[in-house]
Parts: sequence; structure tokens; C-alpha cells
Amino acid sequence: MSGVVKRIALYGGSFDPVHTGHTSVARNLSELFALDEVLFIPAHVAPHKRDRKVTPALQRYAMLALATQNEPRFRVSSIELDAPERPYTVETLGRLQETLGREARLFFVMGADSWTEIRTWREWERVLEMAEHIVVTRPGYELDASHVTEAVRERIVDVRGATRETVERELAREEGRKIYLTDAVELDVSATAIREAVRKGAASEMLERFVAPEVADFIRKYRLYRNTHETESFEAGSQDEARG
Ligand code: ATP
Repeated sequence: MSGVVKRIALYGGSFDPVHTGHTSVARNLSELFALDEVLFIPAHVAPHKRDRKVTPALQRYAMLALATQNEPRFRVSSIELDAPERPYTVETLGRLQETLGREARLFFVMGADSWTEIRTWREWERVLEMAEHIVVTRPGYELDASHVTEAVRERIVDVRGATRETVERELAREEGRKIYLTDAVELDVSATAIREAVRKGAASEMLERFVAPEVADFIRKYRLYRNTHETESFEAGSQDEARG
């Protein structure tokens, strides 16, 4: 379907925990963009999450591995977690362009909330130029482009409501790196809501609806998200780092 060049989506986030919002995004975009692979890239910490301690990276990675195990096209990358310097997206994208980008077409995936705050990311304009991007709608967030520059706006392709065929036609145009706005998923779920539900002892329904069974078992087994002040980090003394 995807022609000769492999298409790989890069999906960064804190995934604390990974939920059905994330996996639906990955699944629906795989369909719509005929992706060969979705690479989940857990970050040390996302920039807007500095006010709380996050779950240890290993546990977030483990939950991602459990949630993606049965999806041959989904993989988890430790590229950011392995990097001692705690890289920003601009650095990670640079490394992935050098390795995967030689043979594959790379799409960076983000939700509408990340898109809204893209200007807070380090070298955000460069980030947007280093790959193609797919922005996904998210309930409660506007998907507009008033916050970006004219040059960035010109690269936006709105494929909301589009069929696979239309998207394919858009992808076939060779006009440089685009930013695709999609409505591939409209699912009102966040990791914050899941953590809160667990903390309040009201987790059963949330976990059942929005978290893979294996991940729900992991959360229970390791008693994640029970503390009032979010999860205690095992990475004592570590400094939260911006991801974007
Ligand atoms: P938190 O509630 O802790 O902020 P989150 O649910 O937003 O977490 P992240 O791990 O921060 O999850 O998200 C990673 C990426 O997935 C981000 O680009 C985010 O916008 C996107 N995303 C998360 N949930 C959804 C959703 N329900 N619909 C669309 N995109 C989503």
C-alpha cells in the first residue's frame, strides 16, 4: 500500500500510562497513512509536566511494551531513555533522520494539545522541518494554526474527514515536508485522568475502558499512581527535563 519507501510514524510522549487514546491514534493513523511502523518513543519527561514526579522510565517503557506486544507494526524505542543527556525532540529527530530517515519517510505524531504548545519546544520550527508531522484532534483542544508562523501555516494540509485515497493523493505530492491535520481519533481520555482515578480508588472502570488489560494488571501489580502527590520517582535526585 505504501509503495517502495517505508513509512514510519514517530510517536513521542510520556506515556504515563499508555492508554487507548495513544493506541487508537497509532492504529487509525496506520490505516489512514498506510504506515509500515509506529515507533513509540517514551521521553524522560514532557516539558509541561515538570510540576510532578513521573513514573520511572522503565515502568513506562514496560507498559508500552505490554500495550504494543500484539501489534506487529508497533514498536517501542528506548532512544530517549538511553541517552544520558536527556535529549530534546529536535535531537532525537536528528538521530532518527540519520538512521531511519535514509530509507524511510518519517512522520512525527502529536495530539492537538502538543500542537497548541509547539512553540514552547526547543527549536520548534526546526522540529517541524525535520520530518513530516501528523497532528491529531483531541477533545477539548482547538486545532487551529494561529500560533504558528506564516511559513509553517503554508505547509499545513487539512485532511480532517478525508478518506485513505485522499490522504494517499496528498502524500504523493512532492512539495516538501507537510504538516497534516487529522481527525483520525476523537477520544476523550488522558493519562492524567487515569492517574487521578487510580489515586481516588475509582480505577476499575477507567482502567477497563481506557487501558489495555495487561497494562491495567501492571498498574495494579506495581501499585502505580497510588500516592497523593502523583507517583514517587525512583530516579532520586534526577531533574525533570523538557522533551519538546
Ligand atoms: P498527561 O495526561 O499525563 O498529560 P497524555 O494523556 O496527554 O498525558 P502523553 O503521553 O503526554 O499523554 O501523550 C503523548 C502524545 O499523545 C501527545 O502528543 C498527546 O497530544 C497525544 N495524545 C494523548 N492522548 C490523546 C488523545 N486522547 N487523543 C489524541 N492524542 C492524544
